[in-house]
Amino acid sequence: MEKILVVDDSAVQAAQLKSILDEDYEIVVAQTAEESLGYIGVKEFSLILLDVVMPGMDGFMLLKRLQEEIITRNIPVILITSLSDIEHEERGFMLGAVDYITKPFHPSIVQARVNAHVKLYRYPRQVFQQSMTDQLTGLANRRQYEHYSIAKWEEIVRLQIPFSVCMFDIDNFKVYNDTFGHPAGDKVIMTVAEVLSKHLRRATDFVARYGGEEFVAIIVGDEAKKVYDYVKQIVQKLEELHIPHNPSVRKWVTISSGGVTVVPQRSDQYHTYLKIADTMLYDAKRYGRNRVVWFGDDMKQWM
Ligand code: GH3
Ligand code: MG
Ligand code: MG
Repeated sequence: MEKILVVDDSAVQAAQLKSILDEDYEIVVAQTAEESLGYIGVKEFSLILLDVVMPGMDGFMLLKRLQEEIITRNIPVILITSLSDIEHEERGFMLGAVDYITKPFHPSIVQARVNAHVKLYRYPRQVFQQSMTDQLTGLANRRQYEHYSIAKWEEIVRLQIPFSVCMFDIDNFKVYNDTFGHPAGDKVIMTVAEVLSKHLRRATDFVARYGGEEFVAIIVGDEAKKVYDYVKQIVQKLEELHIPHNPSVRKWVTISSGGVTVVPQRSDQYHTYLKIADTMLYDAKRYGRNRVVWFGDDMKQWM
C-alpha cells in the first residue's frame, strides 16, 4: 500500500483525514513538522498532506526544507489550511506545493485530489528510485550515498551524537574474478550486499555500494566500541558463509573493513572522516585482510 504522511498539529483533523484516506493508503500521522522529518528520512511517501499553521516549524518552513533536499524534493505536497486568502495560497505554490485544500474540506474532494497527485507522481518516483539504487545489489548507490551522507552529517552536527562511517572491501577480489569468472564475482558482490543489509537494518543505519567491490555504511547513535564490535561480527559472518576462494590466496571469500566514530563539531568536515575510514581500510588490507581496523576514540588503532 502506498504511504501518505499527514502533518497536522490538530489530532482531530489528522484523524479526519486519516479516516477519509485509510482505505486506499497507509497513513502516517506526525503532529509537528519536526516529528515529520524523522519519518520522511525513513519511509517512502507517495504524498504529504501538510497543515500550514502549526506551532514551531510551520507548514511553509517544512515545505521549503523538503524542496531543498533531492530525496524529498519530488514528493507531492498538498497544503491544508483554513487560510483562504490568496496570498497564502500563492506562497504555497511558490514554495512548491502541488495543490491547496482549504478547510472545511469535503471528503470526496480530498480523496479525488489525493488520488490524482499520487497517480501523477508514480512514474517519476519510480525513475527517481532507480536513479538512486544500485542495479546489481538493490542497495543505495553512490549517488544516494553522496546525498545521504551530507544530510546525515549536518543532522548529527546538530544532534551531537556519535556518527560512524565504515568502508568495506572484498579481499583479493581480482583473483576471485580471474579464477571463477565475472558472473561468479557478481554473485559474491550480491552476497556481500545481502549480509551487510541484513546486519545494518535499523532505521538509523545506511549502507550503499560505493563502487565496484566496495561498500560504505553510516551508523549513528552508537559509541565507537560498540560499532567496532558489531562490524567485526559482520566481517566474521561473511567468512562463515564459507564461499570457496582461490586457495592460493585465501580459503574463503572475506571482506576487510575500516572505520571511525566521531561526535562531529561544527568545524569538522565529513570528508576528513571518510578519508580516515579509507586509511583504516587500507591498513586492514596491509595487516592481512579479513579484519576490521577502527580509528578508536582513544586516538589509537583498534584491530
Ligand atoms: P584487495 O584485497 O587488496 O582489495 O584486492 P582486490 O583484488 O580485491 O582489489 P583490486 O582493487 O585490485 O581489484 C578489485 C577487483 O574487483 C577488480 C575488478 O575486476 C573487480 N570488480 C569491480 N567491480 C566489479 C563488479 O561489478 N563485478 C565483478 N564481478 N567484479 C568487479
Ligand atoms: Mg577495491
Ligand atoms: Mg578488494
